[in-house]
Amino acid sequence: MHRGPWADIDLNAICANFAMIRSAVRGAKMSAVVKCDAYGLGMAPIARALAEREQCDVFFVVYPEEGVRLREALNAAEPVIYVFDGPNEQTLPLFEKHNLTPTLNSLDEAKLWTARMNGAPAGVHIDTGMNRRGAAINDIADIARLDLNITLAMSHLACGATPAHPKNRRQREMFIDAAAHFPGARLSLSASAGALMDPEFHFDLVRPGIALYGGTPFEIDDQRIAPAVALRAPIVQLHSLPLGETVGYGATFIAQRETLIATAAIGYGDGFPRAGGNRHQAVVNGARAPIAGRISMDFITLDVTDLEAPPRLGDMAEFFGPGMRLHETAKNCAMAPYDLLTGLGARVDRRYL
Ligand SMILES: *Cc1c(COP(=O)(O)O)cnc(C)c1O
Repeated sequence: MHRGPWADIDLNAICANFAMIRSAVRGAKMSAVVKCDAYGLGMAPIARALAEREQCDVFFVVYPEEGVRLREALNAAEPVIYVFDGPNEQTLPLFEKHNLTPTLNSLDEAKLWTARMNGAPAGVHIDTGMNRRGAAINDIADIARLDLNITLAMSHLACGATPAHPKNRRQREMFIDAAAHFPGARLSLSASAGALMDPEFHFDLVRPGIALYGGTPFEIDDQRIAPAVALRAPIVQLHSLPLGETVGYGATFIAQRETLIATAAIGYGDGFPRAGGNRHQAVVNGARAPIAGRISMDFITLDVTDLEAPPRLGDMAEFFGPGMRLHETAKNCAMAPYDLLTGLGARVDRRYL
């Protein structure tokens, strides 16, 4: 019996989120962003489920090495795998051997690709104001003049989390102008946020990541997104405290009454943020129990005094999942769903439902 924390990953819910976004974007083509091991949840089972059940046939990763693993997991040549990190001398052979498609981020990358991969499809990433990755607007005309087979012209919103931000509309206008250099390419501006915004942000293809995994890309929670991951841990010990006794490092929790403390087998060593200490809660037997004291590497202590029935050893504490939205947990821990999911540690047993 595994005594530590685990994550229940609901492949049906991930597929349902995919289908929900597909209906939100109507005509636009769907894809799935599975970079960073599908946000820490496991790229292979998730990509396979999306390919088999939802006919997803376009995927995005960051590194060609991730693309190689994805190609092997999908065990098929047809799905298009875009790699955000463009090609260089060292990685060109990986692109070629595993049929990976780069999103070209500069004139130099575009020149390398035409010179060495003559005619092979490529995307182009246009920087419209994120100023992180992507070719400068001033280089777009030169890139377009090269003998390239551009299948995708894409850009990325800096302020998708706040749909009303004026930068979104400015980036959209810049994108339309720059992408006009690539007639015949599919246009793609939106990740999860843009896909769940107005149709004018949808273009031909959307690139959702976090919303597939149950995370809201917006500052305000979006109930259209179904929980897809539950972070859980067993209760491994109970302590009855007299008035005035303390809990945990620094003795920051002081019992104001006779208090029952339950210790759950999960800590910051598993990626649960320390910021949740004395702030966040867990769901135990259907009721909420506040975190009492600091979070330690391996354990979180919960005040379960007010539960109708005291929990028993082995009962489960849920830190986010169907009983508590990921968005709420992230907020309480001064984080976003993105860093909470990708930060889950190696000790968290990933289980697929
Ligand atoms: C990570 C990423 C996405 C997916 O973003 P979400 O907000 O998780 O949907 C899409 N496009 C690019 C360029 C990315 O880096």
